[in-house]
Amino acid sequence: MSEERDIVIVGGGICGLATALALHRKGIQSSVLERSETLRATGAAIIMQPNGWRALDQLGVASRLRKTACAMESGRIVTVMDRKQESIPLGGEVRCLRRMDLINVLAEDLPSNTIRFGCRVVSVELDPTTSRPLLHLDDGGTIKAKVVIGCDGLHSVVASIVGLNKTGLYSIYVTRGFTRYENGHGLKNEFVVMRTDELQLGWLPVDDRLVYWFVTRKLTSPDSRAALAKDPMLLKSSIVKAMNDFPTEAVQMVSGSDLSTVQYTELRYRPPWEILRRRLWKGAIVVAGDAMHAMAPFLAQGGAASLEDAVVLARCLAEKIKLADGDGRGLNETRLSFDKPAIKEAFEQYSKERRARAFWLTLQTFFIACLLGSSPGILKLMTVLFMVILFSDGIGHTRYDCGRL
Ligand SMILES: Cc1cc2nc3c(=O)[nH]c(=O)nc-3n(C[C@H](O)[C@H](O)[C@H](O)COP(=O)(O)OP(=O)(O)OC[C@H]3O[C@@H](n4cnc5c(N)ncnc54)[C@H](O)[C@@H]3O)c2cc1C
Repeated sequence: MSEERDIVIVGGGICGLATALALHRKGIQSSVLERSETLRATGAAIIMQPNGWRALDQLGVASRLRKTACAMESGRIVTVMDRKQESIPLGGEVRCLRRMDLINVLAEDLPSNTIRFGCRVVSVELDPTTSRPLLHLDDGGTIKAKVVIGCDGLHSVVASIVGLNKTGLYSIYVTRGFTRYENGHGLKNEFVVMRTDELQLGWLPVDDRLVYWFVTRKLTSPDSRAALAKDPMLLKSSIVKAMNDFPTEAVQMVSGSDLSTVQYTELRYRPPWEILRRRLWKGAIVVAGDAMHAMAPFLAQGGAASLEDAVVLARCLAEKIKLADGDGRGLNETRLSFDKPAIKEAFEQYSKERRARAFWLTLQTFFIACLLGSSPGILKLMTVLFMVILFSDGIGHTRYDCGRL
């Protein structure tokens, strides 16, 4: 089966749905191809910082999401051994959203036939005669598209066609989950991180009863990694065992968590220098979200940056390919031009706006990973120096404004 489509978005995660929604708000229809059978979200919750809220405001969904998660009032980091405390500056609106709430809200306003589930793209190529993108699906079908947007995450099949290499693996893993306190958790609306040399535990309340927590540890041997990834019970007990010196409430938070939400994640990244050097688009194919700038969650910015990508990409495309606005009643329909120069200009503008942003975010997380990982002492020393020079304003990244849709 061979079909033709105008704009095809590969991947219906945060970035793919946000991009489809941003285009829809600009009066441009798209098709989202998602390999899962339903909407789904990996990882219990996501921390949304001021820059993410600015993008959600532009997408027209921020007010709905504000109702589902409370705002953090402060943050602190505690060294477990000596109970020393430092405050974590928040820099504005910070909330912890259930990932599924975010996914549902982004999908809610899309026209009903936008997302095609159970549709895995196995490869993408540029048709040698027309230079148009050609998508090959796992059911043997093909789609000829005028524009392809790769929002297919860490192991993107689209990223390789624009020239990006495979992502690298950090020597750190994260476990995350939800703990529900039926009678209320009684915690302040506060982002807390407790750390020892071996393990960092962070938590944020989502609402009065639900708390999101995450634990960061160095990777152990490949054998135990495979076992931990498969068995949430083993994963939970191995963390609890390593929390000897933590306060009882913190240990109980992890031990009392809902096993179905406990998840093991190895951290992958796109090297910052690759984002700087390589093209982020080729012909009528472009990448966004983790497919472009996979980064570790130490700044809690990957998802927010994906929302920013969506706003900027839809704005650039609308500016260059829209010839006339529709009135929403089928009369005087929105007319689009998929001429090569129009698409090229849109993607050049998008790359110009997003490359620097993605570079600085991935660089800052890369430095933090070097400090947390098993790099030699001299490398850590140099990293601290670079961090002081380049990122003295530790929350500067939250002030970014992706602009109007
Ligand atoms: C442990 C952890 C904690 C994090 N915490 C935060 C946080 O607090 N704040 C924050 O802003 N960010 C956070 N992030 C980052 C954030 O989760 C990601 O940046 C974000 O999910 C990226 O969205 P995406 O849509 O680009 O990719 P994904 O969420 O990976 O979505 C990709 C989608 O594409 C689909 N897909 C993949 N391949 C194909 C294919 N070939 N065909 C069809 N469909 C396909 C997948 O099924 C999926 O639905 C965290 C990441 C991790 C690992």
